[in-house]
Amino acid sequence: MKVGVIGFQGDVAEHMEFLYKLKDEKKRDVDPVLVKSRRMLSEVSALIIPGGESTTIYRLIKEYEIYWDVVRRAKNGMPVMGTCAGLIIVSKDSQDPRVRGMGLIDVVIKRNAYGRQANSFYDTLKIKGIGNFVGIFIRAPVIESASNAEVLATYEGQPVMVMNQYVLGLTFHPELSGDTRIHEYFLSMVGREGYVSTGSREWYVSGVA
Ligand code: GLN
Repeated sequence: MKVGVIGFQGDVAEHMEFLYKLKDEKKRDVDPVLVKSRRMLSEVSALIIPGGESTTIYRLIKEYEIYWDVVRRAKNGMPVMGTCAGLIIVSKDSQDPRVRGMGLIDVVIKRNAYGRQANSFYDTLKIKGIGNFVGIFIRAPVIESASNAEVLATYEGQPVMVMNQYVLGLTFHPELSGDTRIHEYFLSMVGREGYVSTGSREWYVSGVA
């Protein structure tokens, strides 16, 4: 099964390495694919949008005309994992006109809400279905509300990991933790039957933004 990583900017290599680790060491059915075009996207069964600088990644996926394809594929059931900047991009509302959320998961985001890069931190989180996990937060966004998304983990009372049927969103960086359990969890979302789009922005699908 081909799993893509949007490959323009940010923690691209780290996610690719994790997928290779799952393939080579854990013998999982996963072929990592760097996604930088519509054609590359069309080949994958699941997609990771990495952390990095959301305004840059957003601009490039627009420029390379991948944005709407991701929206269409996700609404047809392709699982997407958005970490940090990636979560900002898949969110319903990023509250920043420079990054129009894809509306794939019902969360409202505040970018850079913990402060500057120097205010980055890590702490142990308790994740539903996974257990204790070291969350590494790098100039992370905050999830201000998670109306219809299921909350899998919180930090100081605020959601930091959320999901719906086809999207997994994290404000921290699992690819920097050395721990592949979240990636494995994501893989388990692939190929599940019965995906139904619950996105409230169906008008996005027709491209009428
Ligand atoms: N501060 C970044 C942004 O808003 C996100 C940080 C990250 O992905 N680590 O784009």
